[in-house]
Amino acid sequence: MASRPTPDQVHWLTGQFCEDSKEVTYQRSITSRVQFEACLSLIVAACIFGMFSISDYSLLGLTKEYYLLVAMRCVVVVLCLSLALIIYRWGGYADSAWLHALPLWVLATGIILIVPLRPDSLSTQTTAVVVATMAFYLLIPNLLKVVTLASLYLSAGFIVSAVLFADITPMTTLRIALLLIMANAVGFFALLRLESLQRKQFSLLHEERHQNCKLLKEIAHRKSLETQLRTLAERDALTGLNNRGHFIKLATALLHRSQHENMPFSLFMIDVDHFKKINDTWGHSHGDWVLTKIAEVCSQSLRPMDVIGRFGGEEFVMALPNTGPEDAQMVAEQLKKQVAELPLKEGMSELCLSITIGIAVAHNEKTTLESLIKQADQMLYVGKRDGRNKVVMFQI
Ligand code: GH3
Ligand code: MG
Ligand code: MG
Repeated sequence: MASRPTPDQVHWLTGQFCEDSKEVTYQRSITSRVQFEACLSLIVAACIFGMFSISDYSLLGLTKEYYLLVAMRCVVVVLCLSLALIIYRWGGYADSAWLHALPLWVLATGIILIVPLRPDSLSTQTTAVVVATMAFYLLIPNLLKVVTLASLYLSAGFIVSAVLFADITPMTTLRIALLLIMANAVGFFALLRLESLQRKQFSLLHEERHQNCKLLKEIAHRKSLETQLRTLAERDALTGLNNRGHFIKLATALLHRSQHENMPFSLFMIDVDHFKKINDTWGHSHGDWVLTKIAEVCSQSLRPMDVIGRFGGEEFVMALPNTGPEDAQMVAEQLKKQVAELPLKEGMSELCLSITIGIAVAHNEKTTLESLIKQADQMLYVGKRDGRNKVVMFQI
């Protein structure tokens, strides 16, 4: 049973992809290049074909045959140049391969017509036909089937024309035929090899692009996983604030910098008052909602250089670099007021939401974050003991 061709498989005889859709994609990808190359080849071919009228003159002089030849050459040159223009403007190779093939038939016919008008110079014309055949195969890109047909037409037409008008012997006919068969075979296999190599290169390029795309997607996926992992490791899931571990890391760095710059550093320990009662009265989901709202208010009151974290349960912690006792007291009072004024959910109107804040300020280079947390926690306890809804500052 014949196996199905793979998408990248190239046909051994046509040099094209076995799969039609892949061939169309390939042809579309080379359209503009083929268009340009086809135009250039046509212009060059037209010029060379026209220039041969000089050798016609030296051979024929100003005879009837010469004028006929010049007229025929003019027709071929004009047709080739017009077709070059048409191909340049509208000649999408994938959609109109026939348009690219047309000049070959025109040129081949022109070359064949020279024989009856100049039968004496058959050896020169034979050389010209061999060169034209090679040029067809090598200079007209990506049209193996069409080029083969046009070249065979040129060879057959030339031999028939030579037999009819140049009166050649059977031996000469055989010699010319062998020469043209050889030219066609060399041209055909050279172009076949070129076409299949170009398509293999195209497949490899596509495969490389495909792998690159996959790699980029994989990198993006890994980056997003990394971000998710970092978030999991550093953030509190409910409020989105830094978790205790990450807060301590960031706040320690801030404290060291403040101490290095000889600037004050304040730390707030914030605890929601009677939070258990909120859970007991309205349920845990309402309790969670209150926690996220308080986290929002605290975050909004921060300056860019400040750091906040959820210390645990209904406790938050804030680090304020370059902040002395007076400013810290003012910020804490403002925060306490904002929390008290928080708009609450429907049905929670009788809740008097309040927080208690304990403040500790670093006074010398030896103060550690641990000791600051301890002092702020002690002040929090004092605030709770004194009736809650308080801001209490650690006094040295
Ligand atoms: P105090 O004014 O003395 O701070 O009283 P309190 O009720 O706020 O403090 P307590 O330590 O007695 O209760 C804290 C409660 O917070 C107990 C716990 O169930 C609740 N809690 C801790 N974490 C969460 C949370 O993530 N969501 C909710 N809804 N409740 C939480
Ligand atoms: Mg507590
Ligand atoms: Mg509490």
